[in-house]
Amino acid sequence: MTNHARFTVDCDVLPQFTAAYLRVAGDEAAFIETHTAHAVPRLMRALDEQGLRPEQVRWVVVTHAHLDHAAGASAVIARCPNATLLAHPRAARHLVDPSRLVASATSVYGAARFAELYGTIDPIPADRVRALDDGETFALGDATLRVHHTAGHAKHHFIVDDPAIDTVYTGDTFGLVYPALQRVRVHGARLPVVRFAIATTSPTDFDPDEARKSVDKILSLGRGAACLTHFDEIRDLDEVAAQLRGWIDRSEALLRRVAAGEEVDVAAELRRAIADDTAARGLVLTDADWKLLATDIELNAQGIVFAAKKR
Ligand SMILES: [Zn+2]
Repeated sequence: MTNHARFTVDCDVLPQFTAAYLRVAGDEAAFIETHTAHAVPRLMRALDEQGLRPEQVRWVVVTHAHLDHAAGASAVIARCPNATLLAHPRAARHLVDPSRLVASATSVYGAARFAELYGTIDPIPADRVRALDDGETFALGDATLRVHHTAGHAKHHFIVDDPAIDTVYTGDTFGLVYPALQRVRVHGARLPVVRFAIATTSPTDFDPDEARKSVDKILSLGRGAACLTHFDEIRDLDEVAAQLRGWIDRSEALLRRVAAGEEVDVAAELRRAIADDTAARGLVLTDADWKLLATDIELNAQGIVFAAKKR
């Protein structure tokens, strides 16, 4: 019997914010997601903790080309001599030649901040990159994993179905579920966990119809666990999907208003919607919770405005 296991690697500066997954099948391993070059020591430590060597890493998989998922890919590939990078065709070409990814992020952040955030992104030799079409499979030990292209968050996104361990790796397609926000805080009492999931509509590809289809696609696989990049495994897929549909609907309504020429402060509207939604379910957000969400609210607002202008 082959030994099957999966481990969550906490990759970001902020704890429980950005995950990568180490998947082990027999004497082969794969990473799903890489975060940035700064996460490489943590990924290598996770491997070492399982008694595995970098030479045993067969695949490095990135769900899409956003930098908190794929910026570390070239560094991981450099450390794992037998690994091949697997990505969506639209993502793969930008990892072979990352000049556009680097240029666009550098134009936003400047070179110094870019290095601080993402480290170095080197080109990956084309013969170490395989682009996977919708429905394509790859083998890890005696397991067969299959990718499904899922637009809505990004046109270069796929999810990875891993039936051998009843898991689907969803990248950003199944929203954001930060562990820090999954707790009721009423007068300091620790009541049972209340779920808080929110969709990510960050620039530049947000598409409500595709996003809904992708949520349905994930549910249709019937897996017991979804592994989100932000952050970790969730098992109540129906509840998370219901909340995501609500956020996709609200985001689409805002998109329509902006597209119709209305002056809308989208970030303020999102903050109000989050306050209403959480209050209705008895989740009281603290200042620290709002701080945790601030960047996502800004990015979600920018993505909605961007999509509205495209229409
Ligand atoms: Zn993303």
